[in-house]
Amino acid sequence: MRTPFIAGNWKLNKTIGESQSFAREFAPLVQDVEGVQVALFPVFTAISALKTALGDSKVEVGGQDFYWKASGAYTGEVSLPLLEDAGASVVLLGHSERRGRFGVPEPDLEGEAGRVFGDSDHSVNKKLLAALCSSLTPIVCVGEILTERENGHTDAVVENQIVMALDGVDASQIARVVFAYEPVWAIGTGKTCEADEANRVCGVVRATVVAKFGLDAGDAVRIQYGGSVKPESARELLAMEHIDGALVGGASLKADSFAAIVRAAV
Ligand code: PEP
Repeated sequence: MRTPFIAGNWKLNKTIGESQSFAREFAPLVQDVEGVQVALFPVFTAISALKTALGDSKVEVGGQDFYWKASGAYTGEVSLPLLEDAGASVVLLGHSERRGRFGVPEPDLEGEAGRVFGDSDHSVNKKLLAALCSSLTPIVCVGEILTERENGHTDAVVENQIVMALDGVDASQIARVVFAYEPVWAIGTGKTCEADEANRVCGVVRATVVAKFGLDAGDAVRIQYGGSVKPESARELLAMEHIDGALVGGASLKADSFAAIVRAAV
């Protein structure tokens, strides 16, 4: 049995005070929920305060990204030991909004300057290998952009991202890795991938893990779906064979809607 995992990615939202208010409202709403792992990903500056505000709640706190080196001359970066120090126990990597937006420039910048965030399959791999040497649980995000889907390349794109991310990962480490299948065209757009199709691609993720590490590893690995998950769509998605949780953006910003998604996993 795989423990469902519901994660809320707040992106660049919520001050320290707003994060603390959320914790006070949210923790009681999920206090009686058993058997579901729940994590919130605030901005870096709010990690420590959010962790403290959650008190003895089992809700975990995570980092939205990190650099794979522990310390040094890397201005503007944050590392795994610093996230651990702030109270994080989980970390996101390879989110589409960090993967150089898949080469899509920021609308208010031009040309190469528009690629403000630079994750690639190679840097995602470096980050995963580093995370597996820390105490943090890594959530590796994968997913296709719209043109890749329209050209029938979804499965190949997702498979390739996973194979690249897992390069050098040992069989003894794979059970710690969580994947999030996030079709990029469904993130923040209100467009949810149909549950059957989301399940099918999560099945591709599982099959890719099976191909590399065998049946038991594939059976144990947890796979979230992400992309405009709402309380209304969560139950159907979470009932699917290969979907073991959700990575939630917009609907995690309100305590009641995120709590409803957590409850849909029970
Ligand atoms: C996300 O941030 O990973 C995400 C899926 O966002 P949203 O739920 O808003 O689409």
